[in-house]
Formats: sequence, C-alpha cells, structure tokens
Amino acid sequence: METRFRAEGKKVTPQRQRIFELLADNTEHPTAETIFRMVHQDMPTVSLKTVYQTLNELGQLGMVNPLELGGGSMRFDPNVKNDHQHLVCESCGSVTDVDLGPLHDIFNGRSDVAFLVTRAEVVLRGVCESCQRVIPLEKNPSEVSESR
Ligand SMILES: [Zn+2]
Ligand SMILES: [Zn+2]
Repeated sequence: METRFRAEGKKVTPQRQRIFELLADNTEHPTAETIFRMVHQDMPTVSLKTVYQTLNELGQLGMVNPLELGGGSMRFDPNVKNDHQHLVCESCGSVTDVDLGPLHDIFNGRSDVAFLVTRAEVVLRGVCESCQRVIPLEKNPSEVSESR
C-alpha cells in the first residue's frame, strides 16, 4: 500500500503509515471511526479528517473498497483483489467476506438479459455465528409483528 501510495507521488506520513498497517490484511471491514480510534491510541495528534482523507485517497487509487452496508457508517475493505461478497450481522454489525464467485460473469453469460454487468454487490444479512450462540433465534418474524 505504502509503495503504491508513494508511486502516485503522495506523501507518506507516519500517521498514514499506521493507517496502512492497520488496513493490511484487515478482514474486519472497519469504519473510519474504528481506524481513527486505533491510530489515536499510539498517535494522539491524529485527526479524524486525516483518516477520512487517507481512506478517500486509497479509495480513489482502488486500494480499498468503500462499502455502503447500512448502519450509518461507511466500511472500508482492503481486500480489493478477490471478487467477494459480504455477510452482514444484523445483531453485532460484523461484516464477513463470502466467496460467491464472479457474479458478473454468470450474469453476462446469459443471452436473455441485454445488460452488461461490470460489478456485482450482494449483501447477505443475518446473524453471525457468535451472535447465534448468544441470542437463540426463538422468535420467528410473525410473533414479532403480532406483539407490536
Ligand atoms: Zn453478530
Ligand atoms: Zn470484504
């Protein structure tokens, strides 16, 4: 990340270096606020603005994928090479990668649909493994709506 950033003629400050480190191999899909809190632990002078700016620039260079998954905050995914989709836990908000294969290829192979798919985004919402252990899924949707 750092090498690419430098190659683009951008300045690499220690704060930015720390952001790159935190993003490298990060599978948590952190928000800007999460990254800010982590950088802030060692570098109290960092501003949220710096974090946003760095993430923005990384996004423009295609080195992170900004993800709009609901829940108010943009998530950032450094896994830009693998064509993957996301599992979003509606209980704890965790975001996990799931490989559904290259969806655009499947779609573009169909002769009955005259639409060229260049990118596919699928968000699967549900309850993650650790949340399933904490809250047993005893309520079914019809019971919930009756009680309202
Ligand atoms: Zn969860
Ligand atoms: Zn991802």
